[in-house]
Amino acid sequence: MNNINTASSPLAERVLQMEESATIAMTQAARNLKATGADVISLSIGQPDFTTPTYIKEAAKKALDDGFTFYTPVPGFLDVREAIARKLVKENNIECTAENIAISTGAKQSIANVIMSLVNPSDEVIILTPYWVSYVEIVKFSKGKPVFVKGAIENDFKPTIEQIREAITPNTKAIMFSSPSNPTGATFNQEELEDLANLVLEYEDLYVLSDEIYEYITYEEMPVSLASIERVRDRVITINGFSKGFAMTGWRIGYICAPTSIVKACQKIQGQITSGTNAIAQKACIEALENEEAKQVAVEEMRQAYQRRRDLMKGLLDEIPNLKTIAPKGAFYLFPDVSAYLGTTTPDGEKIENTSDLCMYLLKNAHISVVTGAAFGAENNIRLSFAAADEQIVEAMRRMKEWLVKLK
Ligand code: PMP
Ligand code: GLU
Repeated sequence: MNNINTASSPLAERVLQMEESATIAMTQAARNLKATGADVISLSIGQPDFTTPTYIKEAAKKALDDGFTFYTPVPGFLDVREAIARKLVKENNIECTAENIAISTGAKQSIANVIMSLVNPSDEVIILTPYWVSYVEIVKFSKGKPVFVKGAIENDFKPTIEQIREAITPNTKAIMFSSPSNPTGATFNQEELEDLANLVLEYEDLYVLSDEIYEYITYEEMPVSLASIERVRDRVITINGFSKGFAMTGWRIGYICAPTSIVKACQKIQGQITSGTNAIAQKACIEALENEEAKQVAVEEMRQAYQRRRDLMKGLLDEIPNLKTIAPKGAFYLFPDVSAYLGTTTPDGEKIENTSDLCMYLLKNAHISVVTGAAFGAENNIRLSFAAADEQIVEAMRRMKEWLVKLK
């Protein structure tokens, strides 16, 4: 009899060529180890450790009681899109209306919709590197060609405008841009955005995806939205969502703000693939945005906790010999350069060839899960999330030091 699991593989090229998400894979490896009874501290997944603020949960309960259990309009409920547009006008200085908004099942789907809408086979998409893991795979899935422009640690990992200019060719369709960035936490200031806007306007058919999902999690200057610069607005697709700032990762609400032709294209794709996203979650988002008082308290409380934990983890990392770490200006990751530990040997005689080996060594021995920088286009770094309780951070850094110094 044929075994369901041993039949020959029917899988298509597009999925065979896709890399698994390293953030998700590492987090699953940590869960598996935990299931065996090990005391694992997970610093691999990028998600707030806070539960969603109560005022938002209450709004979801009300939406359920009010009967919002049906299919939703494909781009999202009109009142939710209007609330998002009001937020973008008021907080981000982006001139827009509900017509410019499409809501999706997480910002991840928003990015996929936009890339699938814009990119023809062999179009190039410039990806500022280090980058968030999924950008590259989404571009490749759409048959586009990722072109990497790498930022140096000395410049907060930010590529310069000149580097971006050098990467542009007649085939360049879009630039994947993020501020604050995952994994580096780098933010771009007004002057840098003005330069980017000017560069984009030198070309006729060049678009920027501006991923602003960490906008509420910043530690120095307030972030600026690229689309607030009027002259470039019709070339920018702003990506945002509720996962990070409102601690709503499991609710799966992301959105774009874009010229209507792009909104309609995303809507067409979504209409054939997933339809409108969850009704209850969408309705709660109106309250999330528009209950000003509750919002400010909740968002600021989480931001301050992240800032404290950033400083705590950075201080402890600095006590580990030979790591090079900068304090991120936003998001909730530290991204130390661990190259001093590459090419070493473990107490069991195994070689640490690269950061993936190092992450597996730390998981197996120190029982902490962190993500290889290779997944973000940075071979010398690892990513640690500090969206974890203070005690977990202290214990994780103690274990990390204990096991790193054993490498010879
Ligand atoms: N962009 C960045 C930079 C992220 O870190 C994430 C987190 N997964 C996303 C987009 C997608 O967020 P979500 O799908 O949860 O809205
Ligand atoms: N954005 C988070 C991360 O980078 C969530 C996991 C994912 O979707 O990749 O870890």
